[in-house]
Amino acid sequence: RPVIGVLALQGDVREHVAALRAEGADPRPVRRPEELADVDGIVLPGGESTTMAKLAGRFGLLEPLRAAVGSGLPAYGTCAGMILLADRLLDAPPDQATVGGLDVTVRRNAFGRQVDSFESRVELAGLDGGPLTAVFIRAPWVEDAGNGVEVLGRVVGGPADGRIVAVRQRNVVATSFHPELTGDRRVHALFVDIVRRRLAERAGADAGDERG
Ligand code: GLN
Repeated sequence: RPVIGVLALQGDVREHVAALRAEGADPRPVRRPEELADVDGIVLPGGESTTMAKLAGRFGLLEPLRAAVGSGLPAYGTCAGMILLADRLLDAPPDQATVGGLDVTVRRNAFGRQVDSFESRVELAGLDGGPLTAVFIRAPWVEDAGNGVEVLGRVVGGPADGRIVAVRQRNVVATSFHPELTGDRRVHALFVDIVRRRLAERAGADAGDERG
């Protein structure tokens, strides 16, 4: 079972743990830098990104997270987690730190204050089984994405029509919305698969090293 950490400083940690377990992973809360060393992937949950970034700094997790994601550790961020994974932010306090790893500009609270939360159907590239119900809670969107970033999903219809709400760059996945709150585990399944593939690749590389 791939060991997948869930950053457990703040936010909807339990829901991610349940979804990951149901998809065959061994989820573990991560609060300390040492705990990060034992995981094959990491989930950054929804919550409040400013608070989460501050706590990550205070717990000494920011640099280890940057180093881990920078060297290819698979990561999945939902909502505030997407904000944490973004290389650039809009509508954030100027000193808000991020982990980075995704070559995107993310706008916080992008859907406007009057629409606190809403649901919408979003079609995700590479997911079988039709559109999923996306739950947006004071959600960000991806304002723009670099060339290496694959756009997985956009809002269809309404004032935010066409806005990017799901992206992937190699081993890093982010959604503006919260699949962990709906019982639809297809995005978690996709992420667990990314983690499994990376483990298999690394096992192959190690075996190669031994032979060589
Ligand atoms: N608006 C929050 C932030 O900026 C994100 C909300 C969420 O994660 N549901 O962090």
